[in-house]
Amino acid sequence: MGYNVAIDGPAGAGKSTIAKLVAKKKGYIYVDTGAMYRGLAIHFLEKGVSADDRDAVAEACLDADVSVKYEDGAQQIYLNGRNVTPKLRMEEVGNMASRASAIPAVREKLLELQRTLAQKEDVIMDGRDIGTNILPNADVKIYLTASVETRARRRYDELKAKGEECDLQKIARDIEERDARDMNREIAPLRKADDAVLVDSSNMSIEEVVDEICGYCRL
Ligand code: C5P
Repeated sequence: MGYNVAIDGPAGAGKSTIAKLVAKKKGYIYVDTGAMYRGLAIHFLEKGVSADDRDAVAEACLDADVSVKYEDGAQQIYLNGRNVTPKLRMEEVGNMASRASAIPAVREKLLELQRTLAQKEDVIMDGRDIGTNILPNADVKIYLTASVETRARRRYDELKAKGEECDLQKIARDIEERDARDMNREIAPLRKADDAVLVDSSNMSIEEVVDEICGYCRL
């Protein structure tokens, strides 16, 4: 069994930024489970399947093979043998992932892949249900959050820095919608595991968050 750090929390809390830095400092492999949901979402989009049609989504899962490789330490997602990593961050892919992740067949499809990685390697794995469902016996569990205003502002600054036009109010509304979907779905909803440490990064620097989390990791 590898040493397992689970890091869950809402969209835009900084999980991937923080997890990547902790992984580097501690020598863990960073596993981004959201990217796996996004990889499957590309499959549904390409097949023209609607996220409202649960049966069609479940059927589409049957001919999707999602796998993970590490190239120069960076996680790559392969969908049916094709590297789809460059497409993962597209808005429509994120929306489809958020909707389809509420469907049991989709979660079942990715569960084994996530557990197998954690069994073999020392990992820091980020997602929504890692501490509650995927790795209930993780060595360290973190629930990383920040206020909606902070998360929206960070996303806004990120998009502006890339030269993209964006609207702060709309970003905040999207974040609230995604939170509601993740927290209120029937299967594996986003919530803090009872034994997870709550870290609210609203008024913390990236370095402070990384240091605090590294402090909980004994390996
Ligand atoms: O974290 P990221 O935004 O890449 O995740 C994409 C979507 O996948 C999220 O909106 C969430 O609904 C879903 N997800 C999930 N469980 C995970 C990781 C992501 O339901 N462990």
